[in-house]
Order: sequence, then structure tokens, then C-alpha cells
Amino acid sequence: MAELSVRMRELVQPHLTGIEPYDPMFSPCRINLSANENTYPLPSAVRAAIDEALAATPLNRYPDPLANELRDALAARHGLERTQVCVGNGGDELLFNLLLAFGGRGRALLTCPPDFSEYAFFASLLETDVVRVPRDPETFAPNIPEALHAARSANLVIVTSPNNPTGDVLPLEFVEDLCHACPGIVMVDEAYGEFADEGVSAVPLLGRHANLVVLRTLSKAFGEAGIRCGYVLAARDVIDVFSAVRQIYSVNVLTQAAALVAVRSRDAYAPVVERIRSERERLHAGIEALISATSAAGRVWRGQGNFLLVRLPDAARLRERLRDEYSILVRDFSSAPGLAGCLRITVGTPEENDAVLSALAELLKGDES
Ligand code: PMP
Repeated sequence: MAELSVRMRELVQPHLTGIEPYDPMFSPCRINLSANENTYPLPSAVRAAIDEALAATPLNRYPDPLANELRDALAARHGLERTQVCVGNGGDELLFNLLLAFGGRGRALLTCPPDFSEYAFFASLLETDVVRVPRDPETFAPNIPEALHAARSANLVIVTSPNNPTGDVLPLEFVEDLCHACPGIVMVDEAYGEFADEGVSAVPLLGRHANLVVLRTLSKAFGEAGIRCGYVLAARDVIDVFSAVRQIYSVNVLTQAAALVAVRSRDAYAPVVERIRSERERLHAGIEALISATSAAGRVWRGQGNFLLVRLPDAARLRERLRDEYSILVRDFSSAPGLAGCLRITVGTPEENDAVLSALAELLKGDES
């Protein structure tokens, strides 16, 4: 990994001397299943309506800072008020702003890793302590009693449902208990919420818990990772904080226009989401069959996102061979804490999933001989 130059290490804030310039090690591949994007084309009527909206958007004016039309559409989608919604430049910006507002030096964020690495990264940028209550090393179930205990002295909790990269969803009772236990803010990151079963979202709990924040994004089910639009739902005074700390023009006019069309056309996405859910089950069954056909130890976890976590022999090498010999990119977590031997595979189109299954069949068979 690249490091800062000696000169820069002297100039940046002392807690930032160890930061590394971002290098996603991205290699262009025929099939990219590494970033949990939606790999299906946008529904064609939605794409046409977005193109029309973009063409009609003046570029010479600053955006509406609060994106009120978009907030109204999002509020209507979730049965909430405009004042309970704040939009951001992707969910990432809102996670950063959450830490900016509610974290900070001498304050603690509680997480249940393995989870989305940006939480700890943003906490480190903002000098926030991270209290980690790890999940079970085999099942990845959260340690509920310990998390509830730790929540009592945390300023902030972030939990993820479905969790990235393990795919499991949290019991709503646990979310409610966290809201009671934590004197600060509890965020449930539902970036993958649309792919999960009915009834697992924490959005209906917002009316009961004034410290609950739910994060959503248009990057996954809505297939618009490129436009950078996420949003948080929370009580009005929590949203006031998000509105106060944000960079006022972070959601540009083109993003607002495209997002508005997407949110208003949400029913058009239902068949794609259904397809991804059924492909997820097919990919899961296919990988499970491959694992049981080889003598090597392996595992594929059940998940409710648009991805699967798998443990396979020699995972790092397998990921390289998928990339170099089959031009298929998946995400290697094998050296991340708690994820030894693990790869994360985004659920793609049927053709992409077939390509993964046949490549894995060849590579795992080759390992046997
Ligand atoms: N939360 C989770 C759990 C994620 O996996 C991601 C994206 N990988 C995000 C938030 C942020 O997504 P975006 O910035 O694209 O909205």
C-alpha cells in the first residue's frame, strides 16, 4: 500500500500520519462482481425518463441545497415527512457526516464487525474511538448481550442489516433494545434493505425511537451507484443535525434529477429485485453443491443482500485466478479480521452467475487433482 511522503506526514494532523491514499486495486474485467453493484440494466422506461430529466436540467444554477423535491418523494415512499429525510452524496457522505456530528475525540462508536469497513475508517479520520463487539466467528451472528452492554456507554452505534459482507439481517427486537440502551444515536445501515425479506426493515420503528437513524441508498436496488445518492431517515431534530453539517451542494442537479425519476418509478424496479433474490438462491445452491462435491472444506453463508459470502480453500489465489483466467472480479476478504478464507461475490445476471459457477467448478476441481 502507498504511504504519505515524509513531508506530508509532518504536515497533516497528527492522527492522520498513517492514512494511505485510496487504491481500490481495481482491474477492469469482463464480469465485475466485486462492489455489490446492481449489474442489471436500468428498466428501459426509467432510463428514458432519466435521460429526458437530465436533458431538461439547467446546469448554470446551484442545486437546491436540501433537494426538497427529492426529499418529498423519499418521504412519500416511506410514509414519513420531508423533515425526516436528508439526502447525501451516496450513503458514504452520510456515514461521514454521522461521525462528524456525533463522533469525535473522546467519544465512542460501537460496531459489530465484520461489517462495512468505512465505519471504522471514518471514525479514525474523525478521532472517534471504535468499540468492537465481534460477531460469532462461524455463524457471524451478532453477540447481542455484549452489544447491548457496550451500547450503554457508546455515543453512537452503527449496525448493518443486511450486513456487508456477511449478509445476515438483525432482529428488530435487537434494534429496539439498542435504541433503549444507547444514550446516543443508533444507525441501522440498510443499504441492501430492498433485497431482504418483508418485515426486516427498521423504518417502521422510527416513530417509536427518537434516536434511531436508518440509512438507505440508490446505489444498490435502484442500480444507480454512479449518480451518488443516499439518504437518512430519522426524527426531525436528528435530520436538522445532518442538514447543518453537510456540504450544501453535495448532491448536484443531475443527481437530484435522476434520483427523483428513480424514486418515483420505484415499482419498475421490483422485477429486477425479485430476479436478484432468486439468482442469489440459485448461486447459493450452486456454490454449496460445488463445495460438497470437493473434499476441501468450504462454506457459503445465507444472505439477504445482493451478494454471498463464501469460504473456499486458498481464497486469495482463487480470486486471482478468477480475475486472470476468467476475467471475473470478486472481492477478497481473506486477510480482513474475522474473514479468513472468505470471498464476497455480488449476485449478477443469470449469465454472470453461470460464468462464476462454471469457473469455480473448474478451479475447485483442478485443486482436487
Ligand atoms: N453501507 C453499506 C453497508 C455499503 O455496503 C455501502 C456501499 N458499498 C454503503 C453503505 C454506501 O453506499 P453508497 O455510498 O454507494 O450509497
